[in-house]
Amino acid sequence: MLKMTAIRKSYFLGEEEQVVLDQINLSVNQGDFVAILGPSGSGKSTLMNLIGCLDTPTGGEYYLSKQKVQELDEKELAAIRNREIGFVFQQFHLLPRLSVRHNVELPLVYAGIPEKEREKRATEMLARVGLEEKMEHRPNQLSGGQQQRVAIARAIVTEPTMLLADEPTGALDQKTGRQIMDLFHQFNKEGKSIIMITHDSEIAKNAGRVFRILDGHLREEEADC
Ligand code: ADP
Ligand code: MG
Repeated sequence: MLKMTAIRKSYFLGEEEQVVLDQINLSVNQGDFVAILGPSGSGKSTLMNLIGCLDTPTGGEYYLSKQKVQELDEKELAAIRNREIGFVFQQFHLLPRLSVRHNVELPLVYAGIPEKEREKRATEMLARVGLEEKMEHRPNQLSGGQQQRVAIARAIVTEPTMLLADEPTGALDQKTGRQIMDLFHQFNKEGKSIIMITHDSEIAKNAGRVFRILDGHLREEEADC
């Protein structure tokens, strides 16, 4: 489904090259639940942005759904992003002036889905994350955990093949974090791939495959037997 080979990402500060990621190899299959661990500043978000086609690598090869990402133009990139990937962020990134339901409908607006159908699908998704009663509320009337559930409903409303989450429980207490993990497990059982970035090794234990970024390199941990 996804294959990265010898991916490199560096930033240039004037003449000076700062290498954040180097020689990254990563293959993810349909239905995998992957956690990527690493300390703050190790390049986790940089890697997530590359996986999500929000940023382009400095070197290496990246294939997503058999397409070579580096050969796609902006329009094709946006299309593959919208079709294949749902994003979830630490800070939820909900639009404060829109109702919960309208937030969830937003990706469907971009996809050109008619209003009646949008409303039906957003309502279904909000029911799935247990928030149908909060549909007409504004995001700031909800708790952090509820806001993250709205963000998850929004991420999956387009039925992407993979959910990409950057520190999804980072702003939540442990109990609420566990509820978010329960949702991820549920989607994973339905065949959705999940790639979750975290700095919390307890949270990473939820995943079937655990990777660690250290000194710009990514390596997979041995599975517990
Ligand atoms: P993490 O998510 O693991 O905390 P990041 O991927 O955000 O780490 O950042 C990794 C490194 O890359 C940091 O040293 C950061 O300063 C640097 N970095 C991230 N984005 C940029 C950018 N746009 N320009 C320059 N340096 C950046
Ligand atoms: Mg980060």
